[in-house]
Parts: sequence; structure tokens; C-alpha cells
Amino acid sequence: MAEKAERSVVEVEVPLDFTYNYRVGQYLERYIKGLGEKKILGVRCSGCSKVTVPPRNFCGACNRVMDEWVEVGPEGTVENYTIGHVKVERGAVEKLDEPRLLAMVKLEGATVPLLAEVKGMAASELENGLRVKAVFKDPVSDSLADLSHFEPVGQEVK
Ligand SMILES: [Zn+2]
Repeated sequence: MAEKAERSVVEVEVPLDFTYNYRVGQYLERYIKGLGEKKILGVRCSGCSKVTVPPRNFCGACNRVMDEWVEVGPEGTVENYTIGHVKVERGAVEKLDEPRLLAMVKLEGATVPLLAEVKGMAASELENGLRVKAVFKDPVSDSLADLSHFEPVGQEVK
């Protein structure tokens, strides 16, 4: 019986760096334009009155076309949150100097909460029910990043 040849395993590292460019569609485009005017837009369902932010074409609850645009926020309530202590970038995990606060914020007039970063407060003070307000980039740049983050209501805008 022939002996199996010893196999060696070769590991190849291939650094990949892609820049994606894709159409966001009518709904997200209008949402982003709204952010450029420092407005947060959602859509209301004519069937069940649910208001989603960011807007989507169809209601997830009753499957109707959602086409009534409404302005929501800029204040809202933290419904849930998580505190990040590391960041993952290009596959590498790195410990953050300051924890990053991510919250599900239910904006005034919206039915569905929006995932957003919260700044301007200690992680130990973040809690469900906290009132927060939107902080927009200044100047705006017609991108999703125009809605920079949220901070507690009553806080000075930097
Ligand atoms: Zn609906």
C-alpha cells in the first residue's frame, strides 16, 4: 500500500478593498435629501397607519404600498440599546478608548425605531426611556451621515 504524501497547507493573505457604488432607490434618496434639509422623513401606511423610518416601499405588517411622506422627530425615546467596547475594521478587532453607544430610537411620530449612535453622555447614563434629539452634520453633505447622532435632550449642541 502506497504511503500518502505529506501535504502542506499554504495560507494566502489577499487584501481586498472595495468601494461600492449602488443606487439607493427613490425612497432612500428622498430620505437622504430630507436629511440634507435637517429633516427626518418617514412614510405612513394607509392601511395600518404604521410610520417607518427610514422609509420603505411596502408595509411589513399589511403589505400595502407606503406613500404618505411624513416628517418625524427630531426628538425621540431610547427603546433599547447596546454599548460597544471594540470596533471591527477590515477583520481586525480593536478595543475602543471610549465605549460606543448604539440605540434604537423611536422618533416622535414614528412607529418603528431607528438604529442610531448616541453621544454626549456616559455609557452608565444610557437607559431605556431616555429622551434624545437628532444632531445633524454641519454643513450637510447629502448623505446618510448627515444625521450624525443623537444626544440627550437638554444637552448643548456642540
Ligand atoms: Zn400597514
